[in-house]
Amino acid sequence: MPSYRAPVDDYLFLLHDVARVQDHRDLPGFADLEPGFTAEILRGLAAFHEEVLHPANMAADAEGARLVDGAVRTPAVYRDLAQAYRESGWLSAGISEGIGGAGLPPVMTVAISEFGVATAQSLRMYFAFCAPAAEMLNTFGADWVKAHVVPQLVAGDWTATMAMTEPHCGTDLRQMRTRALAQPDGTYRISGSKMFISGGDNDLVGNIVHIVLAKVPGDDGTLANDLSTVNVFLVPKRQIDHQTGALGAANGVSVGSIEHKMGLGANATCVMNFDDAIGYRIAAPGQGAAANMAAMFFLMTYARIGVALSGVGYTEIAQQNAADYARERLSGRAAKGAVNPGGAADPIVVHPDIRRLLLGSRSFAEGGRALGIKMALMQSLARHAPDKAERQRLTDIMDVLTPVMKAYFTDKGFACVNDCLQVLGGHGYIADHGLEHFVRNARVGQIYEGANGIQATDLVRRKLRAKDGRPRQAFFDAIRATLAQHQGNAAMAEFTGPLRAAVTDLERALDRANAAERGDPDAAGVAAYDILTMFGIAAIGWAWTEVAGVILAGKTAHLSEAAAQRKLALARLWSAREMPMIAALGARALEGGAALMDLDADLV
Ligand SMILES: Cc1cc2nc3c(=O)[nH]c(=O)nc-3n(C[C@H](O)[C@H](O)[C@H](O)COP(=O)(O)OP(=O)(O)OC[C@H]3O[C@@H](n4cnc5c(N)ncnc54)[C@H](O)[C@@H]3O)c2cc1C
Repeated sequence: MPSYRAPVDDYLFLLHDVARVQDHRDLPGFADLEPGFTAEILRGLAAFHEEVLHPANMAADAEGARLVDGAVRTPAVYRDLAQAYRESGWLSAGISEGIGGAGLPPVMTVAISEFGVATAQSLRMYFAFCAPAAEMLNTFGADWVKAHVVPQLVAGDWTATMAMTEPHCGTDLRQMRTRALAQPDGTYRISGSKMFISGGDNDLVGNIVHIVLAKVPGDDGTLANDLSTVNVFLVPKRQIDHQTGALGAANGVSVGSIEHKMGLGANATCVMNFDDAIGYRIAAPGQGAAANMAAMFFLMTYARIGVALSGVGYTEIAQQNAADYARERLSGRAAKGAVNPGGAADPIVVHPDIRRLLLGSRSFAEGGRALGIKMALMQSLARHAPDKAERQRLTDIMDVLTPVMKAYFTDKGFACVNDCLQVLGGHGYIADHGLEHFVRNARVGQIYEGANGIQATDLVRRKLRAKDGRPRQAFFDAIRATLAQHQGNAAMAEFTGPLRAAVTDLERALDRANAAERGDPDAAGVAAYDILTMFGIAAIGWAWTEVAGVILAGKTAHLSEAAAQRKLALARLWSAREMPMIAALGARALEGGAALMDLDADLV
């Protein structure tokens, strides 16, 4: 069984020395974020995850969710844990105070996501949409929904799902077949089948509200083969009295089956059947596809950042356990001479290859966390900064960072967890140490919430070109501003040099991809994945540069001298070993297109 020590000290350093949240008191939720207060919150959060959730994690996933008489049975231990989760207050900590949450800002909920991924991801996923669905329904929902659904989600007494995927389409939702027939009373009747719905059913709460995508058929009863008639519907598992909120009869919602899958065994991934189920349209005011889909975009953006952070959470726990193992396991001798001459052999941590695996993972975990908190601060500033131009600028940067973080963090997180398994050799491959558990769980992050290849083409073809290229400009300008701060500082050159080169390589790769696409429609698609990976490495390099700048300037109230030296070593490692990959990926991005695309499909 793996151990877990929540990285509280790292959060305190990143929040107070790097992001300096205490300087943003006028932002909502920031007024109390003094170091003493955040330390108390983080320690309570850590204790709950280390002592209550973590001990049950592996056994619950091994027991798995089951379908019994058409209903999902979660592992027995989940009943008590779900109750403890509700009572702890962590479920609603990030929800706005106006609707009953604690109003903690995103800079604090990063830790809630990360610790939850590491210690109880299957359980957490049943409740993961409570917060975003409550906020979304409070923004776009009808009065009865605000009165009777939102409070139940805030309390964690009901859960929510996001139901988009169908058996024949996940990425290409234009092909959706679930239909929503308008009724004279303003409701809809929803019919169709959704697949892979996380937490589609559970035995932990009184009701489940499904947020369902469906098409409204035309007058002739046919469905358009595009997104123009797609709308978002609230479809409760059990009907709800609009006056009192009391639960009524079952709605036409049933579980067709649950999937037997690679990881996350205790979270039921369901085929959900909707048979003439009563649904309520949720939409932003206004007409057209954008208004229809606003509610779903709200959930999807929230989910993508959460999935990105899973790469950090899994890497943290895997690295801790692999490092502990490497300090104990004896094999071979250090090349520079024995460090354990009285023992049979030296611990494997002396070997360069083991250090490559362990320190590469740690450099990602801590650099990714730094970028996660930077992004979370941007989220608050993008909504609440007094200056409109500043809000726009930050929104533009987040438009770029959202697909980059979703895809790169889950790719890199999976690679790191896999590297940590390697540290244990054969002992990593068997279940006892838990490393294979994290490899299996982490893999799906690359697939759901928009597969990573789709994030890459979305970045290159859409996000960076949108608004006349303003997001692209805003992202590079923000990095240039960091570089300008350290201009002429020789001690920072080992960080700023590779970061400056990365901006040049990225701009060149993008310009070449855009130009090549004019002659070859596949060119941007060929280059997209490498370009997204370049962005991911550079973005973490940017975060590490800021961290190094704080340490070298001696502005560290929350880091011991030894911890500061360790951090600097990790920042250097990212600069020296990851940043050079950007040039190599840039060179590859536009080469090899013919090799990818010229062969006939049946020869692939
Ligand atoms: C454990 C788990 C939980 C999930 N939870 C949910 C949930 O709660 N709600 C929900 O709605 N869905 C959920 N999903 C579904 C998930 O979002 C989809 O699996 C994902 O979006 C991919 O869709 P697909 O499986 O149909 O693959 P496809 O869309 O068939 O794609 C297959 C491959 O082709 C690539 N591809 C497809 N189209 C293109 C294109 N145009 N250009 C380039 N490449 C392309 C994709 O990147 C992918 O690699 C879950 C899936 C899993 C495995």
